[in-house]
Amino acid sequence: MSTINSCSFSDDLVSYLIGEGSKEERDGIKRHLLTCSSCLKDMEELQEAWSMIPYKLDDVEVPSDLKEEVMHSIFQTENIQPKKRFNLVKLYGMAAAIFLLAFASVLWNNVILRNQLNEVTKQAQTPAQVIEVFTLKSSTPSNILTQGKAILYQQGEKKQLVFQLEGLADTKGTQAYHVWLIHEGERRSAGVFHVDEEGHGVLTYELKETEAPFEAIGISLEPDANGTQPRGQKVLGT
Ligand SMILES: [Zn+2]
Repeated sequence: MSTINSCSFSDDLVSYLIGEGSKEERDGIKRHLLTCSSCLKDMEELQEAWSMIPYKLDDVEVPSDLKEEVMHSIFQTENIQPKKRFNLVKLYGMAAAIFLLAFASVLWNNVILRNQLNEVTKQAQTPAQVIEVFTLKSSTPSNILTQGKAILYQQGEKKQLVFQLEGLADTKGTQAYHVWLIHEGERRSAGVFHVDEEGHGVLTYELKETEAPFEAIGISLEPDANGTQPRGQKVLGT
């Protein structure tokens, strides 16, 4: 490694590199670097160390001020004499900086991971509870194979309706089955579905907290998946 820089400016180089100091101080160091070859040499080495510290590790964004903080903690240790400190920086600076940042990043990573884990555990620990089961019957009484049910359940804050239907004819072209929730004669959509080769259909609908209640459910075969009111033939209902 190079000789010890005994210049009085050498201790200010790190501050300059990480953008500290007043404009006057910074201009002073900038001017000094034009004339002092030992400081310029140190500056180049510091800049190299600086550029080797990544901003991003393992696809996790490192907090923007962490890089500055790491640099600070390495180069501003109080109980090392200035000249010795600078030499130490040259020996260990790069390795230490990279190690520290990687370590900080792992910690950062773990905080995110733990939060995600908490979220998952919270959901898993909230049991789902069935509030009501609606039986759906074919609108053509002779067609006993066409039937289904709608299960209204609650899990934590979340209220969902799950439809399980069977014995439905395959759709043709743009046709789609449409589910309607009926409240005081008004129909609102709860979604559309298609059936498999055996005539099974499923649909999940999440009820919003502010959503109006419903007393009945109807399912119709619509010419397409659009439409806000029934146009086609009713096939199932409560
Ligand atoms: Zn100097």
